[in-house]
Amino acid sequence: MSGAMQDWTMRVTAVLDHAAREAGQREIVTRWADGSETRTNWIGIRRDALKMAQALIALGVKEGDRVASLAMNHSRHLVSWYGVAGMGGVLHTINPRLFDDQLEYIANHAEDRVLIYDAAFQSIVDRMKPLWPSIEHYICFDNGEFEAWIGQQDGDFEWVEGSERDPCMLCYTSGTTGNPKGVLYEHRSTVLHAIAGLQPSAFNFSPSSVMLPVVPMFHAASWGLPYSGAMAGIKFVFSAVNDPAILDELMKREGVTDSAGVPTVWLAHFQYCDAQGIDLPALKAATIGGSAAPKFMIERLMKNGTRVQHAWGMTETSPIGTVGGPTWDWEHLSFDEKVAKTAMQGRPVFGVELRIVDLDDMSTALPRNGTTSGALQIRGPWVIKRYFKAEQDATTADGWFDTGDVAIIHPDGTLQLTDRTKDVIKSGGEWISSVELENAAVGHPSVAEAACIGMYHPKWDERPVLFVVKKEGAALSASDVIDHLKPLIAKWWLPDAIEFVDDIPHTATGKISKKDLRERFSDYRLAE
Ligand code: AMP
Repeated sequence: MSGAMQDWTMRVTAVLDHAAREAGQREIVTRWADGSETRTNWIGIRRDALKMAQALIALGVKEGDRVASLAMNHSRHLVSWYGVAGMGGVLHTINPRLFDDQLEYIANHAEDRVLIYDAAFQSIVDRMKPLWPSIEHYICFDNGEFEAWIGQQDGDFEWVEGSERDPCMLCYTSGTTGNPKGVLYEHRSTVLHAIAGLQPSAFNFSPSSVMLPVVPMFHAASWGLPYSGAMAGIKFVFSAVNDPAILDELMKREGVTDSAGVPTVWLAHFQYCDAQGIDLPALKAATIGGSAAPKFMIERLMKNGTRVQHAWGMTETSPIGTVGGPTWDWEHLSFDEKVAKTAMQGRPVFGVELRIVDLDDMSTALPRNGTTSGALQIRGPWVIKRYFKAEQDATTADGWFDTGDVAIIHPDGTLQLTDRTKDVIKSGGEWISSVELENAAVGHPSVAEAACIGMYHPKWDERPVLFVVKKEGAALSASDVIDHLKPLIAKWWLPDAIEFVDDIPHTATGKISKKDLRERFSDYRLAE
């Protein structure tokens, strides 16, 4: 016997239709790179997306073709998210911070046919054009070019219909080894992921929410916010420039209640407000993810009355895996306990399942006891099955995706990330978390940044070495750092050496690049 309910195809265009129908007048504000501002609303975004879909068809773009964007956050980029999907195409959001060889590789691998880009990235386009043979059309989002292009159409168009399992977006992840890999999101996976983002324990949107996402629209679908926000009918404020002075002014003037970004974004905002002697914006909620949110950051935001939603995810997981926020026992916790709990990575949203397995024997599942750490695996309808054009699945034989992260799961479901499988340090057969060492080190007021890697040791196999960037003008010695770490970590975790450096290498997405750090110090030898 089959059920007796209606067929309803889950396509992302249905999300935009809903927003235009039910929250049509809710504003979408953009502050552009040239300082100008525009205001549209969900009705306007839908009207332009319909025109864009027509304009792409007029260019000869076919269903399934890839249309690339090289752009920051703004309303025209949002239009493209829906316009490309609406004509059956796949939007390939390119990260403009990638290195040239990566830019060359991914546009060719994706076989992009059209590129729509911000004028700010004109030099990238000029430089890369000869290396991008598949791209037939270049359209600039700025200088009236985009408007003129879609303005040739009347918007009298019906979204292309198709399967909910059709792809709608492509995002490459650079990883630590080899070429970048493409993650091909589907209409269905995107819609389900966006609904998950609406769970009160996730983004916690209400119709009065005003969101300024700092997380770029080119990175992991901006954490699905443009879709979840459309479902909830919220107001969006976009800034095409990530300058804390601009973000701060916009947040305060536009009544922004919610924002989302990686920890460095929040750090820059703190520094700006401190230098100006002004208050932080009075946000209701701040989502922090992409790398671990340090305790001092959580503490400061919470003292400012902001709910901190510390989230974990990956490009391969669309990206939401877990989100932190007040738990059932919240009111029984002290402030410090709340901060400590928020410093962990939150709990899984409905729709994904997590497990940890033995690092040496991946077939053995480990207990969720709050102390045992293992390789973190995930499965669910918005988790990758296979990389774009790959011949083999990216999952284990029993259908789990191995995240490359090392984690502890607590009995109440809270995830605590302790390391990457490639970075965890094995000393005398026991694991040392490089991330915990780094987090403890950056708690020192004179430490600007710290990165820990395992170095070969004849007796212990590997021992931790901590690389430290001092804050400007700070006087700090190795023994000061060790003294600071002593009460915070196990004695045998204490680094064998502290090395002061001027800078620590980062990846194109702003994360510490331990691969580059290892290369830089490949001749390094620990004193025996
Ligand atoms: P990406 O695909 O570039 O977004 O990178 C995903 C990786 O970022 C994850 O596998 C984690 O290693 C790391 N990551 C994401 N969120 C967090 C978090 N809240 N805390 C610590 N690491 C995180």
